[in-house]
Amino acid sequence: MKGKSAGGGAKPPPPQQAIFSRLSFLHQASSILPPSSIGLSRYYTSHLLSVSKKSVQRLSPAVKHTICKRCSSILLPGITSTTRVENKSRGGRKRWADVVVVTCGFCGGTKRFPTVNKEEMKEKKTKEKDTEGTEVLKDEEEGYKDADMTGA
Ligand SMILES: [Zn+2]
Repeated sequence: MKGKSAGGGAKPPPPQQAIFSRLSFLHQASSILPPSSIGLSRYYTSHLLSVSKKSVQRLSPAVKHTICKRCSSILLPGITSTTRVENKSRGGRKRWADVVVVTCGFCGGTKRFPTVNKEEMKEKKTKEKDTEGTEVLKDEEEGYKDADMTGA
């Protein structure tokens, strides 16, 4: 027995949509917080990651790119992270070897993204597998296990 009194015709939104708006809210909330509120911001992002994991809802690359894998801080260019371009090909001659390196200002963790888009890459290397997004959420759990409950 639940005290719900929904008025007849209106269907509830599909669960996917509710999750999507929750993820979107969490990401926006963590993005607008100033660096001084990094604790709260991190809480939002780690919550965001766990919601996406539980709901098996993949985060869009644009969102994933703004979250530090190591400490789940939000990565805002010039504010909480630094961005530079690296090219490890000989003499930096290969334009497609340009990689954007984003360094987290809190833990020093780095993220790397190719600057050339995937369609262009596919033309050059058709057999390379797309491994993005398969193991992104693994190391986040370690943070929670740190609490030592051996007192009294
Ligand atoms: Zn970090």
